[in-house]
Amino acid sequence: SSRWSRAMAILKEFEEKCATPIGKLWMVADAMAVEMHAGLASDGGSKLKMLISYVDNLPTGYEKGLFYALDLGGTNFRVLRVQLGGKEKDVKQQAMEAIIPPHLMIGGSNELFDFIAAKLAEFVSSESGDFQLPAGRQRELGFTFSFPVRQTSLASGTLIKWTKGFSIDEMIGEDVVSELTKAMERQGLDMRVTALVNDTVGTLAGGRYSDKDVVSAVILGTGTNAAYVEKAHAIPKWHGLLPKSGEMVINMEWGNFRSSHLPLTDYDLSLDAESLNPGEQIFEKIISGMYLGEILRRVLLRLAEEASLFGDVVPPTLSVPFSLRTPVMSAMHHDSSPDLRVVESKLKEILGVVNTSLKTRKLVVELCHIIARRGARLSAAAIVGILKKQGRDTSTEKQRTVVAMDGGLYEHYSEFSERLEGTLTEMLGETVASTVTVTRATDGSGIGAALLAASHSQYL
Ligand code: ADP
Ligand code: MG
Repeated sequence: SSRWSRAMAILKEFEEKCATPIGKLWMVADAMAVEMHAGLASDGGSKLKMLISYVDNLPTGYEKGLFYALDLGGTNFRVLRVQLGGKEKDVKQQAMEAIIPPHLMIGGSNELFDFIAAKLAEFVSSESGDFQLPAGRQRELGFTFSFPVRQTSLASGTLIKWTKGFSIDEMIGEDVVSELTKAMERQGLDMRVTALVNDTVGTLAGGRYSDKDVVSAVILGTGTNAAYVEKAHAIPKWHGLLPKSGEMVINMEWGNFRSSHLPLTDYDLSLDAESLNPGEQIFEKIISGMYLGEILRRVLLRLAEEASLFGDVVPPTLSVPFSLRTPVMSAMHHDSSPDLRVVESKLKEILGVVNTSLKTRKLVVELCHIIARRGARLSAAAIVGILKKQGRDTSTEKQRTVVAMDGGLYEHYSEFSERLEGTLTEMLGETVASTVTVTRATDGSGIGAALLAASHSQYL
């Protein structure tokens, strides 16, 4: 029918616009390396902020004592305590998770921080048994804050901008550590923030604790970002003393990467234009968990409107932004039943669409595939960009390179993670790829922040 051929034409056009042939991936990797140089040369020199983390020493494995961590950066926030056993690396940990009520993500600063400090105080009050604070000492906390921050020291920094659906204007330019400290005081909680770290930096620290060859970390969750170990003398914009280690961890804020080589479609452009942060985080908007399902929704909406994919009426929910979340997309993509029962039930549950034909359900899976493949392949290209900057993209000597990965998208979307790893091999070739390991560091950022709090304790 003409409706179906219209649908096929829309699909085909979308597929072509999303294509990521190997040549394009290399252009993206090269552009990433170039932008990294530019962002290290001067503030504002690139879309990549290349933020200095003030972490010039990663965990050694000898850290000892009781430390807390707090992780704020997406829909969930976590509090964690660890008892570090010193060189035996015997780590005991307890954690608690809470959901940030959506109205607090776009309200006032005090409301958000009071909520967080209250949860933290509640968690601290449950401390017992294996977790012991020496008498007369103040509790210390590593604060993982996964938004762009201009740091002024390891334990202070001002918010540059919000991402991922947060938007509290009065916080921009404010010191996030002092906001948290004031909120803890309002709760009567005596605790000192000794390290403020991005989740990528925390993941890198946590990864290094378990494997000394970890030299970068990538987050693929609600948003996306990466951090890596740079040579201090290769950071022209750093005017401080060169650290003894000769190294500095850089928080790239790669979600804001943009390049003419990125395959962008009309759907991406309208998603961006209608977002909370138009023109920003373009890379994040085509690869991360907050947006993949939303891209799918936009393509399905067009198919419903212009090719009556779901019959004569357009399902009303399909017009609601973010009504189709990435976990749903992932569930449909992984549907292995011959008649695509999962797709059928999700379309019914989410969009209220019944009686879809198998042909329609196959088309939906094909769209999931196109969107996830583009995201995964571009993520791999971006990682190759870091390897290139580090001089680890060609090495064939006995040098191991480990990338610590965290985030719900990478962890749960196997079509995505497997494609990412396959693309790394495709780009690097078997020999180099065999020296590069991607390792899962689930919730590594919490432990990493606690480790950094430990190695920067006021009692050392
Ligand atoms: P955050 O990035 O908010 O700190 P996570 O790393 O836990 O949190 O990632 C959560 C994100 O992971 C969700 O927003 C969602 O986009 C993605 N995600 C969670 N579960 C799945 C899933 N089953 N399939 C695909 N993506 C998922
Ligand atoms: Mg996270």
